[in-house]
Amino acid sequence: MSSSAALPKHIHSTGDLPKVAWAKGSYVHDVDGKQYIDGSGGPAVYCIGHSNTEVNEAIKSQLDQIAHGYRYNFSSDALEELTEIIRRRCGGTMNNMVYVTGGSEAVESCLKLALQYHAARGEMSRRRFIARERSWHGNTLGALSVSGFLERKRAFEGSLLDVSRLSAVNAYRPVEGATAETVGEACAQELEDEILRVGPEKICAFIFEPVVGAAGGCVPAPPGYAKRVREICDTYGVIMISDEVMCGAGRTGVWRALETDGVEPDIMSVAKGLAAGYLPLGAAIYNDKVADAIHGKHGAPMTGHTFTAHTACCAAGVAVQKIVEREKLVERVAAMEANFVAMLKDATRDIEAVGDIRGRGFFQALELVADRKTKAPFPAERKLFMKIRAQAFENGLICYPVGGNVDGINGDVVILAPPYNVTDAELTEIVDKTAVSIRQVLKAEGLA
Ligand code: PMP
Repeated sequence: MSSSAALPKHIHSTGDLPKVAWAKGSYVHDVDGKQYIDGSGGPAVYCIGHSNTEVNEAIKSQLDQIAHGYRYNFSSDALEELTEIIRRRCGGTMNNMVYVTGGSEAVESCLKLALQYHAARGEMSRRRFIARERSWHGNTLGALSVSGFLERKRAFEGSLLDVSRLSAVNAYRPVEGATAETVGEACAQELEDEILRVGPEKICAFIFEPVVGAAGGCVPAPPGYAKRVREICDTYGVIMISDEVMCGAGRTGVWRALETDGVEPDIMSVAKGLAAGYLPLGAAIYNDKVADAIHGKHGAPMTGHTFTAHTACCAAGVAVQKIVEREKLVERVAAMEANFVAMLKDATRDIEAVGDIRGRGFFQALELVADRKTKAPFPAERKLFMKIRAQAFENGLICYPVGGNVDGINGDVVILAPPYNVTDAELTEIVDKTAVSIRQVLKAEGLA
């Protein structure tokens, strides 16, 4: 049977898809025997590659002990060991966590922890969130409310939280009146202006991605931005939330993405890379300041779910993080970043449409533009990013092209997020196939 022939269309919004069979390391195979190199770890998830025997054995042996130790009845070795690992990796005062099963739940928990912090301190007026355009925080109603991604929100408008929304912070596309050098300061000022406009006593938290993922295409915070945000949040008693679901857990060459910026948030989310896709796992991690208020007044966070700290998921997280630590994979990402970027630049040098290559660590994106000078995007109707995804698939490459990064509708970027343990040869294959796929689509569209 052909891999896609019998697929009922209603299951996938993206249409007919091949059926996956098995994967090992950086390679995925479908039921027709076609091989794909995983250049993006799916959506920046599979950071140590697929079918790792050590991780699988850890999960199996945990499941042989118990299905799941429900959080109100038991702690477990897996839960305690994972907590120790995350504490050590985060450093500072990020000592407290709520475990969940994914990124949206992690963000939702971050938002609730911020609300509970203010409630515990008797500041019930602090209910409003501030977030940014061109950001993605997840698909639950709260996480969707703080997201700035028009296409994904439109159908739910009217039922979402009323959130203050600031400009996207992007050195390649600075806000009006700013340059790549001044955009950080200008955008931090926007935050302060909004806090003062609404009234600090009404503001609960500011949430942002240190390196914007799906909604912007690996857009790093400009130098100094996060530090300024930290100062502003401290000045006005606003909680600083760092959404590290996509850019965290080592993806950018440091375990906590904001380490690069020299900043500790109050609360942060982590998910995708934490258990590397072996089982669903995420966490909302909060500092001692937030913990003291919440634990002191209410005893514990008023959030969590049946599968919070699912024992097997925690065991998967422990096994993955042990490998990441033992094999120094975060350090490896940091060491290989410059070469990865150089390879991308080299491979796409002749492609006029590649306007920007940006990111941190193994989280890099290529932005396509119709005109390098004006940075005008290609019209959204062309759906270039979708065509590149299809062409890459045809060529045996999994990458992560997304659209709408310019204004929510227009814009095409291709995100690459290889496994931290990718070999040199595999990285070359990923880069080459990315460049070839982009070139083929541009040519087929009459754009090159
Ligand atoms: N936050 C960010 C920054 C993300 O990139 C994502 C997912 N792409 C989420 C939250 C939501 O995570 P999940 O899809 O695991 O619910």
